[in-house]
Amino acid sequence: MAASAKISDSAFDYDSDRLEALALAKPWLAEPRYFTKTMVAASAAMKMLQHAQTGVERGMARSPPVPIEIMGLMIGHVDPDDTRTLVVTDAFPLPVEGTETSVVADNPRVNEYMAELSESIEAVRKERLIGWYHSHPFDVREYPNWFFSMVDVQTQNAWQHQSERMGSASDPFIGIVIDPLRSLAKGRPEMGAFRNFKPDYKLPNRLVGPDNKVWPSEAALTERWGPACGSYYSMEVQLFQTTLCQRILQVLSREHLWARVLASTAMLDKEARESAAQRVTKIAETLAKAEGLPSGGAARPFGSSMSRDSTAVAAAARAVTDVSLELLQGQAAQAVKYATFSRPADTAAEPPAARGPGRASRATGTSSSSSSSSSSSSSSSSSAASAAAAASAVA
Ligand SMILES: [Zn+2]
Repeated sequence: MAASAKISDSAFDYDSDRLEALALAKPWLAEPRYFTKTMVAASAAMKMLQHAQTGVERGMARSPPVPIEIMGLMIGHVDPDDTRTLVVTDAFPLPVEGTETSVVADNPRVNEYMAELSESIEAVRKERLIGWYHSHPFDVREYPNWFFSMVDVQTQNAWQHQSERMGSASDPFIGIVIDPLRSLAKGRPEMGAFRNFKPDYKLPNRLVGPDNKVWPSEAALTERWGPACGSYYSMEVQLFQTTLCQRILQVLSREHLWARVLASTAMLDKEARESAAQRVTKIAETLAKAEGLPSGGAARPFGSSMSRDSTAVAAAARAVTDVSLELLQGQAAQAVKYATFSRPADTAAEPPAARGPGRASRATGTSSSSSSSSSSSSSSSSSAASAAAAASAVA
């Protein structure tokens, strides 16, 4: 997601004068498909996706297991540089479940929460409510599940036309629909942004879809965009992030992303392997030097060599312990990772003869795919053994 997000440092800017002039002119009321694009801050998209995912997990834990639809509100503004683009800067979850069964705009709890949220946002931020989002956690199929259902169109109508009539600061008001299961399957945020036509608007051709394309048949059109397809239009969704946000993500993913931390083994790095060998050589040299010195007091000037030698041997012993501990820890970490992720759990209880050729080849595939790391770990395992032997010899 982060990689495909557009970098925009100006999207978060709020130009009050130009936006107030726009709010008075309201060019979007004169044209049925006025808005062409919705830019969503990557952080807002992440919040919405995470919220949608929570609904899936909570629903699947219930009996019967059915993913829960979630809903929330978004804040943002029209882009003053391109008035056909809307900018969503943040998102807030609402305590509502199952949005397809009833028109959410009629829910007093939602309206109460919306009014409260709106007030608290106005107190601390310049942006206004710009729309609502909800999830369609339906099974993955040929088409994405981001579309407006009949009930969604009614909810959108209530808010969109209410804000237009009242000249509210929340005009223009949009609806975003998230498909959490497809997002997971595709590994990217799957969402659509929509606005309704005016109720009296007549499409030039009934096969024109919300995407402004002519579909081959009514059945295909409805299959993709739902039975309410003639009532709304969709906008291109573009994720964006600021340079600062990108930098923070890079630092986080480099240093703290758990998968990377888990996957990396310092011991197997080329530098670490070379330096381990050099350290062992150096220790051996130190020990050889100490051993080569004549024993007895005759060759020792000032009578201090004895303590210098024993200091050198003690330092070598500490170095040996450090190297062997590092290598042993690395080996243990690799063994734990292998036991956790690579070895099929069921084979542990089976005698070797019961393992089929498939399993054998799978196991071989695993080890050959990481041949570079296994060869290096075997070389470092022998150096670990020799270091441990050296350590015990010194002790
Ligand atoms: Zn819906």
